[in-house]
Amino acid sequence: MQENKAQGTDISTLGEFGLIKQLTKGIEIKNSSTKVGVGDDAAVLDYQNKKTVVTTDLLVEGIHFDLMYTPLKHLGYKAIAVNVSDVYAMNACPKQVTVSIAISKRFTVEAIEEIYDGIRLACENYNVDLVGGDTTSSLTGLCISVTAIGEAEENELAYRSGAKANDLICVSGNLGAAYAGLQLLEREKAIFANNPNMQPDLSGHDYILERQLKPEARKDIYERLKEAQIVPTSMIDISDGLSSELMHICEESKVGCQIYEEKIPVDYETHKMAEELNMNYSTFSLNGGEDYELLFTVPLDKFDDVEKIEDVKVIGHITEASKGIYLITRDNTEIALQAQGWNPLKEEK
Ligand code: ADP
Ligand code: MG
Repeated sequence: MQENKAQGTDISTLGEFGLIKQLTKGIEIKNSSTKVGVGDDAAVLDYQNKKTVVTTDLLVEGIHFDLMYTPLKHLGYKAIAVNVSDVYAMNACPKQVTVSIAISKRFTVEAIEEIYDGIRLACENYNVDLVGGDTTSSLTGLCISVTAIGEAEENELAYRSGAKANDLICVSGNLGAAYAGLQLLEREKAIFANNPNMQPDLSGHDYILERQLKPEARKDIYERLKEAQIVPTSMIDISDGLSSELMHICEESKVGCQIYEEKIPVDYETHKMAEELNMNYSTFSLNGGEDYELLFTVPLDKFDDVEKIEDVKVIGHITEASKGIYLITRDNTEIALQAQGWNPLKEEK
């Protein structure tokens, strides 16, 4: 495991303030809305006449990530990516993040620095400023909480509640890949637990592993939509599975929907993994979590514009609420969708 103490510096040699200094040194502010970043009692931001969006996610060791197979750098990257994904899902642009960590004694300075390497890389890629956080100790596992702050014009914001009957339902990328990656990692972990001499066999699965361990937020889709002057009528990021997110949109917008199984984009590696595990790949794409793709609706007359955006697929349409929430399967059967989702609180029981 990466945090093997035998080869690293004990955090007590730096102390809390020393560690914070080490982790935040050399941060350069990129955004004009950041007036003061790390170093004072609070960061100072200036959004002038724009709306501000704020979102937080808490990642807990053993619940949201497993250090048996999660590289620390990837973990840092993912902590930022999942938060900026929520900002994009509002059709807003992320500008600042704060990062709070609780660390146990088994982590070395080097281990925490690896997490921050991932955090810094993600901040670079998503063009956000790390403007603060908190550092404390934990008796057991590692916790990372990230808050992301972003901006949008008021009339650009996309809520879950804005979908209207006849709107087109669109998704970015492909679905189920992160879940397929998780299944693979869990399978190899179980094999390893039974026989520590067995080496994990992860070959040929690079894509789904990357989707699980180092997900990306769809900054590019946010940008393409802006270029095409499309403001989605509703939007959400897919963290708990397509079914679950669709139901959120339908519930908040008081509408129904029909989506077509054959139109849901699924990558070849996801297909392959589902086959290996004797599972239906549609279970992965409908209920698998952590894809961080964008699910959104646009008015029907935007069909041509949205079709032109690379990596966006129309998978169905919004209906009146009375029509219900349905999946039309490949053999043309209507199935009422259920949110099985991917809820770590459920799994704990
Ligand atoms: P306070 O006592 O006011 O909470 P701290 O000593 O915790 O101040 O933090 C000092 C500065 O370092 C603050 O600007 C804070 O936001 C920042 N900071 C603390 N921990 C982290 C961290 N893990 N990552 C980034 N910035 C941090
Ligand atoms: Mg503090």
